[in-house]
Amino acid sequence: MDKTTLSALGEILGDRLRTDFETRTAYSFDALRKKFLPDAVGFPGDAAEVQRIVQLANRLRFPVVPRGAGTGFSGGSLPVHGGLVLSTERMDRILAIDTENLYAVVEPGVLTGALKEEVRKIGLFYPPDPASLKFSTIGGNIAECAGGMCAVKYGVTRDYVLALEAVLGTGELVRTGVVTMKGVAGYDLTRMLVGSEGTLGIITKATLKLIPLPESVTTLLALFPSNRHSADAVNAIVAARVTPAAMELMDRTAIDTVRETIPVDLPEGTRSALLIEVDGQELAVAREADRIAEACRSRGALEVRRASDAKGRDGLWTLRRSISPALRRVGAVKMNEDIVVPRSRLADMFDFLADLAARKRVTNVNFGHAGDGNVHVNFMVSGTDPDETRRAEEAVEEVFRAAVEMGGTITGEHGVGIIKAPFLEMEVGPMGISVMKRLKNCFDPNGILNPGKIFPEEAATAH
Ligand SMILES: Cc1cc2nc3c(=O)[nH]c(=O)nc-3n(C[C@H](O)[C@H](O)[C@H](O)COP(=O)(O)OP(=O)(O)OC[C@H]3O[C@@H](n4cnc5c(N)ncnc54)[C@H](O)[C@@H]3O)c2cc1C
Repeated sequence: MDKTTLSALGEILGDRLRTDFETRTAYSFDALRKKFLPDAVGFPGDAAEVQRIVQLANRLRFPVVPRGAGTGFSGGSLPVHGGLVLSTERMDRILAIDTENLYAVVEPGVLTGALKEEVRKIGLFYPPDPASLKFSTIGGNIAECAGGMCAVKYGVTRDYVLALEAVLGTGELVRTGVVTMKGVAGYDLTRMLVGSEGTLGIITKATLKLIPLPESVTTLLALFPSNRHSADAVNAIVAARVTPAAMELMDRTAIDTVRETIPVDLPEGTRSALLIEVDGQELAVAREADRIAEACRSRGALEVRRASDAKGRDGLWTLRRSISPALRRVGAVKMNEDIVVPRSRLADMFDFLADLAARKRVTNVNFGHAGDGNVHVNFMVSGTDPDETRRAEEAVEEVFRAAVEMGGTITGEHGVGIIKAPFLEMEVGPMGISVMKRLKNCFDPNGILNPGKIFPEEAATAH
């Protein structure tokens, strides 16, 4: 970025434009842990400033990379071609909560957890719950269409986005959607922007649907001798016409990994676990929990534990919550995938993963949102053995292929970013890529927004 460009950006942002090495370094990586230094980092305060920046970028031709909190796992916020990282940190206001029409209007830099907490205080519920909710932003969640534990019952971020305001790659401001429950005027540009990973527009305001807060929650932990038993129980629960708010499967690798770091009291022979949560009205919740416990026992559960009070529920969550911290001890580098298969193929996928680990001589730790077939596959490597890394990379490709062959997807919630770009065609085909590129060209003809993402290109070099 030359001096003219930096000084023009400075005129828009003043001291909210940073070019010092420390700031550029702090904004050079995300949770993928690859590093690309931006030329500058900007902190606009409103949509008008965002618009002026993108208009300038079109005139002087530099990349603009939107960034929320940088917790993405696919490298979406990395400035792989340099340019300006545009942080939404300063656009962090909850602008309105409409308690009659049940929606909230927020700026993109609002933390998801902050919005959830604010509406909870008045008996309302914003369901999307990525595990990163305490530190990821609404803008990032919308751009990735974040999911979470409760997607099985409540859906994902896209299901709560009613309307958006965004600055397109052209620098034009567009308002999409409606605040009413119905609205079919023209193309659904809101859905187009959701999950677009900052490549079509920069979201500057979002109107999000709220629902009443469930009055009661019960958690169950069912312990099984194998993944087949767990997967059978998932089907039995669905057949019992219960829709849990969460249904998390942990396989033997995940259970063993946790037990190596903290003591967890489990019955002899536990090889798989299902953590299930039901919410709603108290009496209905109690009845549903009974049906779930019965379904698990009928499918060979070794034990079913249950709690409705906060402390007891928290205890049951320990096993699931401890997986991510425990993973750090297994390998220095985590290749973290988030494939999805139809729920009925979950057991096949877990069998495939066990066989793959043995065949490729790699360690993988697997757990998933079983209710929606979303499996987090983590290949753990030392990072110091090139042959081990190569085998793990080959295994990742096999996992993607298997997921697509089983009728699923290569990414359920983390997005394509840079890391899955080489595999996108495997799922959407050449025509899918071609149509997506044409859409990109329409929203961002000069390729200003987040270049190098989603579409396969010559690998950019991290530095
Ligand atoms: C510990 C941990 C747990 C996680 N758990 C989950 C989980 O359960 N479910 C899940 O789905 N994800 C999860 N994630 C991944 C990550 O938190 C999500 O992808 C989240 O949505 C990213 O939000 P962010 O604010 O950090 O966005 P960033 O990482 O900063 O950006 C993500 C993408 O969004 C774009 N973007 C950001 N803001 C805007 C904007 N205003 N307009 C347009 N584009 C924008 C960026 O360009 C980038 O492409 C987890 C991550 C961590 C580290």
